[in-house]
Amino acid sequence: MAQLDLRDLHATEFPIPDEMQGNVAITSLSKIYNWSRRSSMWPLLFGLACCAIEMIATAAARYDLSRFGMEVMRASPRQSDLMIVSGTVTKKMVVPIVRLYNQMPEPKYVLAMGACASGGGPFKEGYNVVSGIDQYIPVDVYVPGCPPTPQALLHGLISLQKKIDGQSLANLDDVPWYGVGPSEPTPIPILGPDIIDPRQMDLIRRQAQLAAAGKPFGMRELPELKPADTPKIAPKAKAGTETAAKSAAEAKPAAPAPSAVAEAAPAAGGAKPKFDKQAMLAKIREKKANKG
Ligand code: SF4
Repeated sequence: MAQLDLRDLHATEFPIPDEMQGNVAITSLSKIYNWSRRSSMWPLLFGLACCAIEMIATAAARYDLSRFGMEVMRASPRQSDLMIVSGTVTKKMVVPIVRLYNQMPEPKYVLAMGACASGGGPFKEGYNVVSGIDQYIPVDVYVPGCPPTPQALLHGLISLQKKIDGQSLANLDDVPWYGVGPSEPTPIPILGPDIIDPRQMDLIRRQAQLAAAGKPFGMRELPELKPADTPKIAPKAKAGTETAAKSAAEAKPAAPAPSAVAEAAPAAGGAKPKFDKQAMLAKIREKKANKG
């Protein structure tokens, strides 16, 4: 933890005599909570690619993260407050990253280090790379660069400290973890031929239906559905009780819920369309190959 200087804590209109400034602090609850959090940030010990080398250099003697109370990198998400996503996020790795994020106790923060973690970087649109970790978990600070220097990472960490300093316990938008009840876990993406976000399941299902019918299914071709056009999905037996993690495990090897697609009610006046998963995947692959 960074060295305690009581003058950092003064947050009051009541004057404190100069000779007592180092011994007495009159402060607010938000101020002392924020000071405690920002002065003992423990990053999760993991790295993904070249940016991780710069992160390691930042923790070494020359730049010395311990000046900010951040030197204790923990090998367990259970003891970490800060996730530094340092490197290229592949579709394979985003699954454990989101799982680790869910395992971190609140309050927790995320720093996207480098072009890859922030938006895909030089590998953007690559077949195996996601276009930014912020599509899956909330990011507090972005550090640009390829790779960012240790100084840039330090600047990002100081920016995070400033962000924490500006938070108020009275505003649950600032600090949702002090609200009532536990937070919802972040949905874990399903690893499959093309990684998907469970929050986009409805959109993916509609695209799958268009693809199965041999129609264009890109975002441009997908018209906004009117309520009357919305396909009725037959309720699944355990729909109300499934958690994101359970559904992810059950969805192996990650198809966009074919049974639900097959159960979709037919369009008005038409016959119930038969869903052929293999044909749909073949069409998607063919389209991708044509694009390439
Ligand atoms: S941003 Fe550059 S240095 Fe960092 S992981 Fe990507 S390619 Fe490597």
